[in-house]
Amino acid sequence: MAASYDVIVIGAGNAAFCAAHAAREAGARVVMLERAPEAESGGNSRFTAGAIRFAYDGVEDLKEIMPDLTDQEIATTDFGRYTEDQFFDDMARVTQYRADPDLVDILVRRSFDTMKWLRAKGIRFVPMYGRQAFKIDGRFKFWGGLTVEAWGGGPGLVARHAEIAKAHGIEIRYGTRATGLVHDGVEVSGVRYRRGTDLGELRAPAVVVACGGFEANAEMRTRYLGPGWELAKVRGSRFNTGDGIAMALAVGAMAHGNWSGCHAVGWDRNAPEFGDLAVGDAFQKHSYPFGIMVNARGERFVDEGADLRNYTYAKYGHEVLKQPQQFAWQVFDGKVLHLLRDEYRIRQITKASAATLEELAGKLEGVDQNAFLETVRAYNAAVQTEVLFDPTVKDGRGTKGIAPPKSNWANPLDTPPFEAYQVTCGITFTFGGLRIDEGTQVLDTDLQPIPGLYAAGELVGGLFYFNYPGGTGLMSGAVFGRLAGASAALVSIGR
Ligand SMILES: Cc1cc2nc3c(=O)[nH]c(=O)nc-3n(C[C@H](O)[C@H](O)[C@H](O)COP(=O)(O)OP(=O)(O)OC[C@H]3O[C@@H](n4cnc5c(N)ncnc54)[C@H](O)[C@@H]3O)c2cc1C
Repeated sequence: MAASYDVIVIGAGNAAFCAAHAAREAGARVVMLERAPEAESGGNSRFTAGAIRFAYDGVEDLKEIMPDLTDQEIATTDFGRYTEDQFFDDMARVTQYRADPDLVDILVRRSFDTMKWLRAKGIRFVPMYGRQAFKIDGRFKFWGGLTVEAWGGGPGLVARHAEIAKAHGIEIRYGTRATGLVHDGVEVSGVRYRRGTDLGELRAPAVVVACGGFEANAEMRTRYLGPGWELAKVRGSRFNTGDGIAMALAVGAMAHGNWSGCHAVGWDRNAPEFGDLAVGDAFQKHSYPFGIMVNARGERFVDEGADLRNYTYAKYGHEVLKQPQQFAWQVFDGKVLHLLRDEYRIRQITKASAATLEELAGKLEGVDQNAFLETVRAYNAAVQTEVLFDPTVKDGRGTKGIAPPKSNWANPLDTPPFEAYQVTCGITFTFGGLRIDEGTQVLDTDLQPIPGLYAAGELVGGLFYFNYPGGTGLMSGAVFGRLAGASAALVSIGR
């Protein structure tokens, strides 16, 4: 069968689109295969807030990415800076120094240039005032190295990607599931697919797999993440069932990274089994650093203030999953309600409120009331109230003499109204995946590149272990997707 394409990209999320754009700009004829129907397309990328992490050296750099920043915004905002060194340190620290240094180097050093490339392609960005800045003495202050989001969030990002792709002559075949790679024992030369009841095969000298991890596959979750993970809710796309990883392993690719690890957060207890595009990421509940979390036994089980939320939220979903009946209540008092993120004000929410702690205890479904009240009493007595509260930095306002401690942002729960939100574990994406080289070519188990096969996005292993700095998923997809598209086009057209 003659190849009518130079590059086949599997998937239509952020990583896949970045690969397709880069291959197209190098002159390749590109087709994208997207398993989901168009109405549900876009993968996890579409469920995001569009928050994207990259290194920048101050507001002048930000102006290159957001030329619409107004003088007023600049005058009233402390955007700070987020250096490459800080990005490196964050990746190393949160992954307990396991992250593959070569991959991290590419991710960090290319992050700003990739933002400029995305902007030049036509993706728009805006400052993330709502979630990543606090107003202090009349001035906004950004915190946690995460400053920018795609215009229109994840849905805006994916819609714009698709517009740009179509405008540049990239063909997108929706409702088309890649089922395997065409492989002659040495090189990959195409993709087998299924579209409804039609089975077919497409040929091209280069294939980019960018079709997500195995988070939506209960069997693989249980097999690799461990028992209990079949009980997690899936935050995003129901289509990321590990197909890309499986088809690459089937042609000899090497497994790499933290196969028993994943990104998982506190997610509304009554959220549906898979993500709901109408709600997006708002089932998450990420303001726990300003309150406490208790389990069915009425006990705290993590240090809610161990670090800024960007550096703890992705691992605390697992902690919730480990609790009896896989749930926790996040509890806040009137002093901090104004700090709660927008996702605490949606309609689809599992919430209890009360004028007294005793009344609240009676409303915390599934919780030992007396134990809860005792936990709050001990916690309140342990707060070091002499230290100043500051939500924009690790303020050191911790507890003394209780376990687990709360290391920052501790406030006694003493001011009505009291509010509580029930969460379970929502899995975002899996960390284990394929091994790639610095050009994103997939390596086999002899560590040799598999000719014709490239990978980007969630299914690349080796970047994240145990934890993850918020906003890095989109950046990883963008950096490695762009590289994959360019590498695939080079080898394909060069033939
Ligand atoms: C609720 C939520 C919020 C998030 N918020 C953020 C955030 O603000 N910032 C951030 O950086 N990250 C965020 N993430 C993580 C982020 O979504 C991912 O890291 C990133 O989008 C992954 O991009 P990707 O292109 O690799 O995968 P995806 O965007 O998931 O794309 C995978 C694509 O492959 C398709 N596919 C799957 N199997 C096949 C097959 N067999 N054949 C053809 N197509 C197939 C899927 O339909 C999909 O289109 C969030 C995730 C979720 C779920």
